[in-house]
Amino acid sequence: MFLCLKRATAACVLTTAGAVALAACGAPDAPRAVTAPAPAVTAPSRPPTLAPGPGGLTPVFVKAAGARDRTVALTFDADMTADQGPRAAAGERFDNPRLIRTLRRLKVPATVFMTGRWAEEYPRQARAIGRDPLFEVANHSYSHHAFTEDCYGLPTVPASGMRADVERAFTAFRAAGIEHPMPYFRFPGGCYDQRALKALSGTGVTAVQWDVVSGDAFATDADAVARQVLDGVRPGSVVVMHCTRSAAPATEEALRTIVPELRERGYRFVKVSELI
Ligand SMILES: [Zn+2]
Repeated sequence: MFLCLKRATAACVLTTAGAVALAACGAPDAPRAVTAPAPAVTAPSRPPTLAPGPGGLTPVFVKAAGARDRTVALTFDADMTADQGPRAAAGERFDNPRLIRTLRRLKVPATVFMTGRWAEEYPRQARAIGRDPLFEVANHSYSHHAFTEDCYGLPTVPASGMRADVERAFTAFRAAGIEHPMPYFRFPGGCYDQRALKALSGTGVTAVQWDVVSGDAFATDADAVARQVLDGVRPGSVVVMHCTRSAAPATEEALRTIVPELRERGYRFVKVSELI
């Protein structure tokens, strides 16, 4: 059984055999993030990040507000929850190699927000994505547990464990052979609050949300996903999609509509690092 709250939250909760898995990253009730604050000054060789907020709070990037160029960042969450190992062992596919192949074939730069658990399950794919200059790998937590209470039924990470969960994902990336993961973090379910932002201050990450919900989680109608993206994209947009075949089966097909159509409209695809 699954419940899909379209558009408003675009969060889909799949319930199977008593287990609740959430693959979607919806738009939660969370403090409003600042859009496109002034970029922090960084050394040229380091990925761009935002300056911390007041009191050193983890900064949050949503979109490049005021962007004049028709740039858009497609982002793909490679979800896998810490307790989904048995399901993967039973044959459920949390990866989506075909989607990655399509991005390569269409030469679409993209940012993959990967969970540490996903990198452990699919180390060869993780490494291949991490070493392909077309892509950048960013952090989507190790466990895909929520960083707030009440986030679509996800188990929660206690505040005392938040920093460790993020760092554990970076450790998993290194173990898989991803040499240069980006210092960007996407909260599982997109759920965050002041406490979570505070807990991650000191990790150096910039939290990355989005302004366009693709609605691809558990969607079976690729045209509907494509339409929702095409309706939502503006210059500087960040689009959230998924790189998890079992939970987002229509995404690859939707891309084959989205990419040529946005190019037709004059858009150029960029990685998040180019928007920040
Ligand atoms: Zn996710």
